[in-house]
Amino acid sequence: MSEKKVLLSGMQPSGALHLGNYEGALRNWVELQNSGKYEMFNCIVDWHALTSGFEDTEKIVPRVYEMAADYIAAGLDPDKTAIFVQSQVKEHAELHLLLSMITPIGWLERVPSYKDKGDQLGLDSYGFLGYPVLQTADIILYRAHVVPVGKDQLAHLELAREIVRRFTYLYGEVFPEPEALVTKFQVLPGTDGQKMSKSYGNFIALGDEPEEIKVKVMSMFTDETKIHKTDPGHPDDCPVNIYRTIYDTEWTQEIAHLCAAGDSSMGCVKCKKALVQALTDYFADFRAKRTELLADKAILDGYLRDGAERARTRAVETMELVRDAMKLMYGIV
Ligand code: ADP
Repeated sequence: MSEKKVLLSGMQPSGALHLGNYEGALRNWVELQNSGKYEMFNCIVDWHALTSGFEDTEKIVPRVYEMAADYIAAGLDPDKTAIFVQSQVKEHAELHLLLSMITPIGWLERVPSYKDKGDQLGLDSYGFLGYPVLQTADIILYRAHVVPVGKDQLAHLELAREIVRRFTYLYGEVFPEPEALVTKFQVLPGTDGQKMSKSYGNFIALGDEPEEIKVKVMSMFTDETKIHKTDPGHPDDCPVNIYRTIYDTEWTQEIAHLCAAGDSSMGCVKCKKALVQALTDYFADFRAKRTELLADKAILDGYLRDGAERARTRAVETMELVRDAMKLMYGIV
């Protein structure tokens, strides 16, 4: 038995990952994996994609493959992290059902995203109301101790902890209360200056080809008050500068000073060209690996099958503990 704490991470399969997803989640998962401190499970939560995407189901499977390729190309190692698809481990559904029996509706109605996202996207299904229960099942099915989350996810994790406490009170201790490993990251802007997001069409994908990077970066929002090269810039709020600080090895504080001073040697076009080059170089190995993985689905299938097998082993063990605790054991199987 491994002595390591179990860590569960996951994302909805939204297709190709963008720089925001990388900085806000994936880069950190790779670091946590490489720290060797945790037993790692990463769940691609395809059933969750149905809460808003139930009319467009044909996109889900290709998106899962793209996401798996992105994960591996970015450094998640299928030997160290069990990367698997939620729907391939049916125990998620059983645990979700059992937890749904002990979760009061009021708890779910109070989750902030229920009201916000429901109104915004016009969602009112039973599955949408219950998705934090499925999310809880996703986590505790692996008896996970830690879950890396952004601050925006803390309310969901708190609910998961409440459900665990209720389960423990009713049936005894099977699950540890999962703890948040709060990821400190900055919300990265998209090409239009708003938060980078798949839904706003303002993203740069990790796998974008150099030509696409160029088109996107050259059209990027910089600073609306800097019309002429010699107008003073505001580098701290400028998406181009923000990305250069992360990806451009040539970037120095001096560049930001020159921009802020409106020095004619540092115009936005020059800055954008430098970013195009920096992103092209930074993700060159990533692109090559991603292309290779997507060219041969059999290899990805192998990784996902292996990940699901490892996940299932732990999930089956958990469900035995759950059925035992709930006195739902039969002798007929
Ligand atoms: P999207 O808005 O593109 O649909 P998701 O909401 O699926 O992205 O987010 C997946 C993960 O990526 C989450 O952990 C989220 O915090 C992170 N993330 C998404 N967009 C950004 C961003 N612009 N900056 C930093 N992190 C982000």
